[in-house]
Amino acid sequence: MVGETYIYSYGFWDIFQYFGYFFVLIAALASLIVSANVKLTFRKWSKYPTRPGLTGAESARLVLQANGVSGVRIAPCSGELTDHFDPRDNTVYLSETVFDKATAAAVGVAAHEAGHAVQHAQAYGPIKLRQAIIPATNIGSRLSTPLIIAGLVFPAVYPLALIGVFLFGLCVVFQLVTLPVEFNASRRAVQCLSSNGILAGDELKGAKKTLTAAALTYVAALSVALLQFLRLLAIVSGGRRRR
Ligand SMILES: [Zn+2]
Repeated sequence: MVGETYIYSYGFWDIFQYFGYFFVLIAALASLIVSANVKLTFRKWSKYPTRPGLTGAESARLVLQANGVSGVRIAPCSGELTDHFDPRDNTVYLSETVFDKATAAAVGVAAHEAGHAVQHAQAYGPIKLRQAIIPATNIGSRLSTPLIIAGLVFPAVYPLALIGVFLFGLCVVFQLVTLPVEFNASRRAVQCLSSNGILAGDELKGAKKTLTAAALTYVAALSVALLQFLRLLAIVSGGRRRR
């Protein structure tokens, strides 16, 4: 009974103040495993050639055409899993193992990135919101730690610590808004690949599995950010309680 009394004497914030580090660490480890799984899944389905023989770049072009989107460039980029859509130059960048490869994984990733270009062209709400909060998120991630430290070390400027936690909260909001953007791009990709006969059967299954593995990395990133936010809030509010 001593143990139980000990546990129940702690509140939610106390637990996060003292054990938050472990929660963040566990989420960070899970995040590493999820990232490794993306690479394994991508490599596995990179061995499955697509029957129509369309490459990643050709599939991305078809997804854009099927959605009535024009004026988007498709260009190669170096590295593995570095594929992305850049709204600044309206270009879908596809990596070496995607651009000119006709595999289930390549086509899935290429269609997903084209999905982001379609989101931009159609002014999809969450991607607009995500773009809008990027500058604030960048400032927030740089300033939050120095402000929290200053506020905790110097009690006279304690509100700075709260501002620091609030700024870190912007990173959580960013990760949260990223989820619908990523899930929607994958949904658009799979629907388009399936309805236009670009992929079917096992190939479509492989593309879906690759995209689901990638989506999990965003869920893991949100978990890490949210737990870190709760930990910082617990530390900062704990600092106040002690005074
Ligand atoms: Zn994406």
